[in-house]
Amino acid sequence: MSDQPLLPQSLPRPHKKRVLPVELPPLPMTVIGWQGISCVLPPEWNLTSFSMERENGYIRADAPGDAAVTVQIRWQDAAETDRRIGTLYDVFAPRMRKLFKRPPPEQKPPDLRKLLEKVLKDSDRSAKKAGTSFESSTRSEKIEGDELERTAIPFSWTGGGRGQGKIWHCSKCNRVVVAQVIGISRDASQVQSVAAGLFATLHDHSKDSLDLWALYDLQLKVPETFRLHQQQVMSGHLRLVFLRGGEMIVVDRWGLASMTLKRFKPEEWLAANVTVKLKAMKRSAVPLQTGHEAIVYSGGLSLVDRLKVFRSARGLARPLAVRFEGGVWVCEEQNRIYSVQTLTSRKTTDLWNMVANTVMCCK
Ligand SMILES: [Zn+2]
Ligand SMILES: [Zn+2]
Repeated sequence: MSDQPLLPQSLPRPHKKRVLPVELPPLPMTVIGWQGISCVLPPEWNLTSFSMERENGYIRADAPGDAAVTVQIRWQDAAETDRRIGTLYDVFAPRMRKLFKRPPPEQKPPDLRKLLEKVLKDSDRSAKKAGTSFESSTRSEKIEGDELERTAIPFSWTGGGRGQGKIWHCSKCNRVVVAQVIGISRDASQVQSVAAGLFATLHDHSKDSLDLWALYDLQLKVPETFRLHQQQVMSGHLRLVFLRGGEMIVVDRWGLASMTLKRFKPEEWLAANVTVKLKAMKRSAVPLQTGHEAIVYSGGLSLVDRLKVFRSARGLARPLAVRFEGGVWVCEEQNRIYSVQTLTSRKTTDLWNMVANTVMCCK
């Protein structure tokens, strides 16, 4: 009996159901933008630390889970490096040039080799502290970039981990950038592939005078003349505040929108989260490029509101902000509420529209 086939051969075999592989949409890549530096990393990476300063700063992003691979980017304004060893001549020369209407002298490119040596020496020191040997190799200097604006030296090292990176000077924005992917010794191929993606997408200045700010899924653009003044990064609430003199841009994103909207209308939520009084302002519905519709309040700032703004901007910087525009919209797909506020001088026009239309969400 055991020899008997379970199904007589003559019978047609049961139709074998072909299981189609379930096609999950690919996870989106991680876009990071901070202080004019931007790059694209594999999906689900996270910005884990950053500095507030623009002239001399850093960001760090980590791979998801317990992968030990990280990306570190440091930058410095090349002019800042020179200023530290400035002389009296350097202090007075710009004024004299202005007086005689002479153009500033050509920027002397920084000594990249020397700067790189310092970076590698620091890594060497930490490897020695950890009791491991350290080896590094650097390649020859090359010119890169779409407009050949970068002078770069690629490097790699092993010892208490491994790193692959690059140091370069950008003649357009005059930044010196050191970017590297660091992992543990056995991560060689991952370090290599992350580095390839990083260096293919890493920018140190914007081409359209708009800085990309991107962290935790929030993505927007702000004119590069604005400086980050405050940040609040919490899972339920992200806030970025930018200043340009007395002008201000405030961007908020809240999670768990459906819970909030059980108790508040979007405009009530906006009113509760802005410093100015919305009651006397003009209300309008403004369609956004993402397909969402924002409720926008606009109008002149009252004296009381101006005082409040001065206080939060910590000073009476010029140009003074005299006009307010603040809008709120809901992204149901992401279950998030977004708001953008602009406080602008008489000369600035259309800033709200410009910023709000760069905020990316579900589309
Ligand atoms: Zn640049
Ligand atoms: Zn959306």
